[in-house]
Amino acid sequence: MSMAIGIDLGTTNSCVAAVEGDKPTVIANAEGMRTLPSVVAFTKDGERLVGEPAVRQAVMNPDRTFASVKRHMGTDWRAHVDERDFTPQEISAMLLRKLKNDARAYLDDESICDAVITVPAYFNDMQRQATKDAGRIAGLNVLRIINEPTAAALAYGLDNEMKQKVMVYDLGGGTFDVSIIDISEGVIEVMSTSGNNHLGGDDFDEVLAKHLADVCKRDFNFDCKRVPEAWARIREAAEKAKCELSSADKTEVNLPFLGQGASGAVNFACTVTRSEFESMIASLIELTTEPVEQALYDAGIAASELDKVLLVGGSTRIPAVAAKVKSMTGKPASQSINPDECVAQGAAIQANTLANAANSLSVRGGDILLLDVCPLSLAIETVGGVATRLIERNTTLPTHYSQIFTTAAAFQTKVEIKVLQGERPMAADNKMIGNFQLKGIKRAPAGVPQIEVSFDIDANGIVTVSAKDLGTGNEQSITIENDQRMSDAEIEAAIRDAETYAAEDKVRRQNWEDYNEAGRLVREVDAAIARQGKTMDKEKKREIKKAANELRRYVSKKQEKLTDADRAAMKTAADSLSNLASDIISPKSE
Ligand code: AMP
Repeated sequence: MSMAIGIDLGTTNSCVAAVEGDKPTVIANAEGMRTLPSVVAFTKDGERLVGEPAVRQAVMNPDRTFASVKRHMGTDWRAHVDERDFTPQEISAMLLRKLKNDARAYLDDESICDAVITVPAYFNDMQRQATKDAGRIAGLNVLRIINEPTAAALAYGLDNEMKQKVMVYDLGGGTFDVSIIDISEGVIEVMSTSGNNHLGGDDFDEVLAKHLADVCKRDFNFDCKRVPEAWARIREAAEKAKCELSSADKTEVNLPFLGQGASGAVNFACTVTRSEFESMIASLIELTTEPVEQALYDAGIAASELDKVLLVGGSTRIPAVAAKVKSMTGKPASQSINPDECVAQGAAIQANTLANAANSLSVRGGDILLLDVCPLSLAIETVGGVATRLIERNTTLPTHYSQIFTTAAAFQTKVEIKVLQGERPMAADNKMIGNFQLKGIKRAPAGVPQIEVSFDIDANGIVTVSAKDLGTGNEQSITIENDQRMSDAEIEAAIRDAETYAAEDKVRRQNWEDYNEAGRLVREVDAAIARQGKTMDKEKKREIKKAANELRRYVSKKQEKLTDADRAAMKTAADSLSNLASDIISPKSE
């Protein structure tokens, strides 16, 4: 049985799970956390920090700390660090690598590399491709990219239930997705999806943080927004208060020594009630109404026809969010699986299914066919800058569609095909995701040549476009040029880079461990001599002191300043000191 992992690569938090026995298990990392903050940082001495350690130093190192990078997937955004630029794929790969390593350690299997990674249903082709590339850079074999709501439906085991229509309402840290899913005879079909790529718990934090900053100015005469450290503490406190207000009616925010105000140190204190918070975020929650209505409209059903509503994403823990969903759909929502973990669990079920498809093991989800949909319409630009659609949004994937086009000018021997993604009627208002030329068309008057343009979208939602001149039967190989996609060469380079850093990080960690261990040994020996020096054999004491001083030569230098020769000598000195002093530092018990 092959082991494969499911990864929810989130904007705010990420999570990894695997099927053990016949149930998905969320894998806690070495630090004991079940979700990993999606934050990466680069320290001034070249170390890369991922997750909690990156969050901890963010205030002190804001320019070299990167959060919510998922918002930039598939764009030309770069993280600029010293002389280097990192793509969103490379930063995401650092998170994926950490999740992979945590899973390997937990499952005690260093060979695990097959994975399913989830993306918001609203992600376009470029964002999906970038996610897949991130997986490759992290040394993962990405079996499939699946939509987060689809994963949630699997986690809830809805495949085992009767025919039904389900809404998945997913409000996380940075994105909102809503999907209507049809489940029937072991087939899960996503009928429609809608959402907002820029709405989530981060926005709630921001609103509450601004409120706290206003209180700070009004009651303490201190403008915390002007002091980066104070503002970072306010934001952190806002998120904490927000989470507390999901289960308490009010909460106290206390931030001693927030800064230096006109009349001395500011010891910030403020009470926030749930109803105050709810009125602050009401208009943000309201923003989810339109995508919900759109998804229902696209699926061609009324809210009353829904059999079930699933709540996914940490922000659905807010009671006002659950209440809003109930008022929109008339149904109480299912929240029985931890909303932060449910997507990773579903991804793990799907990963397990795909990894073991060859031997058709009968685990849950094993006989489920997942049908995702194309999140945005696909078109090509035709005469007059018009976007002519070939694939409608919400078409079930995988899909193939061909249409015949012709030339607009006499004796035209090549055509330029611009591939567009989006819902707008004019080409310029949509996003161009590819651009290629079909050459070698037979010379003929306008309107005579027949050019067949075909779109193929695979199960990952990744698009391939091809074109053929039917007059000559001449099929030309076509390259889709796209600056925003990473080339294979770039991906390979990024993989090598990530591996180099993984090796370097390991060496760096080992160096620190050796150095710390040597320091600990010297301190322990000093303490032992101080304690029992009087009763020790004089010669032995002299020898131990000499060996301790030899080791002290290295420990008293800065770790970073030690040369390779120093490190080797330090290890030898540490070994001989620990041999010599073994009796005094760890006396044998009788
Ligand atoms: P996710 O992307 O699903 O991990 O969701 C992360 C978002 O959920 C963050 O904005 C968190 O602050 C938020 N969140 C987590 N727990 C709670 C809670 N108990 N109440 C409100 N929001 C929460």
